[in-house]
Amino acid sequence: MTDPAKTRRTTNVVAGPDVGRWRCPCCQEDAPRLLPNGMPNRHPLRPADAWLHHPDVEAAVHETGAHADFDICLGCRDTVHQLLGTLVVPRGEQAELLNARGLAGTALIGAVLPGMEGQTLILVFAANGERLRLSETIPLGDFDPGRMTYPDERGDIDPVTWAAYQDGLKRLRRGL
Ligand SMILES: [Zn+2]
Repeated sequence: MTDPAKTRRTTNVVAGPDVGRWRCPCCQEDAPRLLPNGMPNRHPLRPADAWLHHPDVEAAVHETGAHADFDICLGCRDTVHQLLGTLVVPRGEQAELLNARGLAGTALIGAVLPGMEGQTLILVFAANGERLRLSETIPLGDFDPGRMTYPDERGDIDPVTWAAYQDGLKRLRRGL
């Protein structure tokens, strides 16, 4: 026998985490406002999350007209954290996971900018004399994560790139 309480239509159900969707400007996906465990899935992006505190990087970011005045989903926040400040080997090459020494031509992800004309752009910087210059602008979907490299020592990486990388690591550890 069917329990009538179980078959009755319920119209006064409390809205669950899956309702109230919003569009994350980083992944361009309709994301739930809450995760299944009830935690919020919208996180404010701070400038320090999106670009390195370096005058050459900040100047290049300023030229793009980027800002960090919006929320992104938890998955994108983690992605941005992983990418920002990471060293990358040249386009078309794959980083050796166990390579402890940095290789010549290694560059630095100086900015990850969501909301740029409907996409997220990764800005890669390379040393140019005493300065860092923008060397590549890559849509997030086209980025090859196999280029990310984590050498223990500078090796043949340009000292300017290495110094900016080390400074980024220090700020990360201090939570800035
Ligand atoms: Zn997202």
